[in-house]
Amino acid sequence: MTEMRIGYGNDIHRLAEGLPLIIGGVHIESLVGAEGHSDADVLLHAVTDAILGALALGDIGTHFPNSDERWENASSIKFLEHAILLMREKGFVTVNVDSTVNLETPKLRPYINAMRKVIADALEIDIERVSVKAKTGESVDAVGQSVAVKAEAVVLLSKSQ
Ligand code: MG
Repeated sequence: MTEMRIGYGNDIHRLAEGLPLIIGGVHIESLVGAEGHSDADVLLHAVTDAILGALALGDIGTHFPNSDERWENASSIKFLEHAILLMREKGFVTVNVDSTVNLETPKLRPYINAMRKVIADALEIDIERVSVKAKTGESVDAVGQSVAVKAEAVVLLSKSQ
């Protein structure tokens, strides 16, 4: 008997000039970066929330409140690693991850495989099980107006019993 769990996460961060843009643990060459308490990594936040969601363990804000100065400028890989630890404690492994990043510019294609590797390495699964897709906002909404970067992720977890 195998127990399966699906999880979903999303995130949005405002863009501003003069800030670093880190997505999926990868530094993106960009004139604008993401505002946030941590390193504002929208993709790792979405994947972290998806894992926490699959486990019904609240969300990233529950575990890492932005009122806590320990998480100021924190690397978001720490948040993801914490969620993975909770996943392992409950006996689950990750079957696969699918995700989409919404950003108007620059084009993320050159960075996609590096993002997939960061997530796959953290989860200790093959990169073939991690999908990162990229879309623009077609010049509409907050993404299209280059006001924000967004991400969505789903994960499937399994536990053999
Ligand atoms: Mg966030």
